[in-house]
Amino acid sequence: MASATVCVSYHFDAVSTWLWAFDAWDMPTRHSRGVYGADVGTPRLLDLHDEHDLPSTWCIPGHTIESFPAACEAIADAGHGIQHHGWTHRGPSSYESREAERADIERGIESIVALTGERPTGYASPAWDFSEHTLDILLELGFEWDSSVMAADFTPHYLRRGWRAPADAPYERGEPTDIVELPPSWERDDFPPFTYTWAGPHRMGYTDEEMIFRKWRDQFDWMCEHVDGGVYVLTLHPQVIGQAHRIGRLEELLEHMYSRDGVEFERMATVAKRFREQNPPEAQ
Ligand SMILES: [Zn+2]
Repeated sequence: MASATVCVSYHFDAVSTWLWAFDAWDMPTRHSRGVYGADVGTPRLLDLHDEHDLPSTWCIPGHTIESFPAACEAIADAGHGIQHHGWTHRGPSSYESREAERADIERGIESIVALTGERPTGYASPAWDFSEHTLDILLELGFEWDSSVMAADFTPHYLRRGWRAPADAPYERGEPTDIVELPPSWERDDFPPFTYTWAGPHRMGYTDEEMIFRKWRDQFDWMCEHVDGGVYVLTLHPQVIGQAHRIGRLEELLEHMYSRDGVEFERMATVAKRFREQNPPEAQ
């Protein structure tokens, strides 16, 4: 039996996700989907984790921290990890300059420090978007780990910088940095299959929900059978997974996971720290 780790991560975007995507709708009806995440989804999820005594990691934009302070304080008070997800929820590659991108990340750090008293050690980029500057900015600001890059599925590794991707020459991967990557996946994210929008670039929703939960469970089972020390990062959004017809299925999935021998639930910061200790960057 291979040992395995589950990291349940919540991207608590709340209203922020509706301000920079999906035609940037500035309407209370659109905002309300994010307010639901703060007012309804988050308390339900905190109750679920409390009931089963499972740690989790919340990647929270500063916009959410300052818009919904009580919900964020409840997350912190419950002992869950709180990590960086931008101040806005704007994709890093959309900034007009390196300075503007860095200023947003610095502002997000300040919001988290004001909430928890500690700097975040990890970063998950909004919509897993990365600019040519993002990794260097994370290094400058002392981040220790990231969860945005999908070059592996269940295996932590060190992110590389200095990649080159000319269309008319081979791809160059670059050199390892000392930032640990805990790979997420669109295949383990609730937003694309479950959330309906009626503007580009995203229109999904009304999918076979049983099939999606089965896909997540199948990935977990395969990892446990085939990847020794695998790390399973599940990315969920309170405004999506907190809906009544999903939270029961999430509970079943979590029970399936923690009932298996050798499986631990951990905060992402804990997993990244252990990987760094067992695989020192200077030894790479
Ligand atoms: Zn997000």
